[in-house]
Amino acid sequence: MTEEVILRVKDLRTYFKTDEGTVKAVDGVSFDLHKGETLGIVGESGSGKSVTNLSIINMIPSPPGKIVGGEVLFMDADLLAMPANKIREIRGNKISMIFQDPMTSLNPFLRISTQMTETIILHQGLGKDEAKAKAIEMLKLAGIPAPEKRIDQYPHQFSGGMRQRVMIAMSLSCNPEILIADEPTSALDVTIQAQILDLMKDLTARLGTAVILITHSLGVVAGMCDTLCVMYAGRVVERGATDAVFADPKHPYTQGLIKSVPRLDVASGNRLSSIRGQPPNVIDLPDCCPFYPRCDKAMDICKRKYPAVSRFDDGRSVACWLYSEEKLP
Ligand code: SF4
Repeated sequence: MTEEVILRVKDLRTYFKTDEGTVKAVDGVSFDLHKGETLGIVGESGSGKSVTNLSIINMIPSPPGKIVGGEVLFMDADLLAMPANKIREIRGNKISMIFQDPMTSLNPFLRISTQMTETIILHQGLGKDEAKAKAIEMLKLAGIPAPEKRIDQYPHQFSGGMRQRVMIAMSLSCNPEILIADEPTSALDVTIQAQILDLMKDLTARLGTAVILITHSLGVVAGMCDTLCVMYAGRVVERGATDAVFADPKHPYTQGLIKSVPRLDVASGNRLSSIRGQPPNVIDLPDCCPFYPRCDKAMDICKRKYPAVSRFDDGRSVACWLYSEEKLP
């Protein structure tokens, strides 16, 4: 990871209009991604993780969704202000994606060779033979045995883990600056999950690719990520270096998430901690701390006003009234 910022997300807001009201799926998200960094975005279902990443690559289905504010600066160019043809040149080339189920991205009717070489020819301008050689090289790097033969097979001839390896090979084949991986291992067996995460870590480190990893698993974040954003109800509530957040979580929601992870060094028989209550309905949320009905440390101000973001010496930022220097009314 270097000091160079390659992606700057500033006050991103993505809303969905529904018959019941406005869903503020992403409401003022900001973070920087450095070259070679692996950033984890964690939170419960509905916290806005995936919508944040679809917004970054300007792929929000409209209607009902709309990016209503903010900037996404990729190498100083705002992806949200770019014409459609320009952003298509960046997607799959400079910024590529892996989703939870590889079958949603792979075309079941086309051989892997066709799907991989198409992308390489389109974005890298190579000839057909060169593109196929590059595809075979990437499959080999991704641990596909006999890639020269398997490249001519169809997706259904691969197991789930092997398909995800193909997706990783495909998404890294154009040497992207950023790889966005949305729950890339949730659909796989635990042992295969570990192999796929190791492969992603190894390949992206070798190629110098920055990664945004979306997951609900703190275990995955601990093993993979340099930095971490914890999202709740469409906003980032805590951000910082992964080691620092795990050693000393500041936001009560982060504390609850970390306490709810099973630990090998705790005697068996102890009850696993959980966060009481449910995530809030994000339709027409009032301007208060959305975590207050579940928070043991809630104060009167928490029900009346969204907390200001406090910054710490270790680079951490936390949105919680417990740390605010703003005078409480
Ligand atoms: Fe809890 Fe208040 Fe902090 Fe929200 S702002 S997490 S309710 S203490």
